[in-house]
Amino acid sequence: MPDTPRLDHARLASCARDIADAGRELGARGWTPATSSNFSMRYDSQHAVVTISGRDKGRLGVDDVMVVDLAGKPVGTASKPSAETALHVQMYRRDPQIGAVLHTHSHNQTVASRLYAQAGVVRFAGYELQKAITGYTTHESELDLPVFPNTQEMGELVDRVDAWLDAGKPLHGYLIDGHGIYTWGRTMAEAKRHLEAFEFLLACELDLRRLTA
Ligand SMILES: [Zn+2]
Repeated sequence: MPDTPRLDHARLASCARDIADAGRELGARGWTPATSSNFSMRYDSQHAVVTISGRDKGRLGVDDVMVVDLAGKPVGTASKPSAETALHVQMYRRDPQIGAVLHTHSHNQTVASRLYAQAGVVRFAGYELQKAITGYTTHESELDLPVFPNTQEMGELVDRVDAWLDAGKPLHGYLIDGHGIYTWGRTMAEAKRHLEAFEFLLACELDLRRLTA
């Protein structure tokens, strides 16, 4: 195997710890039901550490993550990466600054994805918490969270994300219809802040829909 890197076990363990901590926190909030969801961190410029398919995301350990290259191919392991690894490595390929990607299936994310699927986007405006998203400095802004149709063909989703980015539109996360959310950040802390902000904003929008119906 010509380009298999010698894995830095300290680096791998540190990524595994950060991923496990995130999993425990997000699992405790009920955002990763029934072994769903997956998390990743950038390992180096050409590789990422991702969760292995089917593990309980609230109880992750060092053996529950693996290294893949940025095409999603396993490196130094026979383990199977999560089915949605393609969506993680896409973000690392597209933006060298991205250091962590989080994907969860919370109740609010799922309900909102159904409600806004036809519109294709949830547009947040006037919320102070929009400022939790890096690059947003005022509530007087518009923050778009696209909703893409669900599919088991990851290539179709990758194409939709590429098309959005290629159109030059800002993208800090996206919903998949009936499924959940993807968001990311330069660090795991930033990715978690983005995820918390989107979850909060979606919960507000859903409450407003209920209360003003
Ligand atoms: Zn999923």
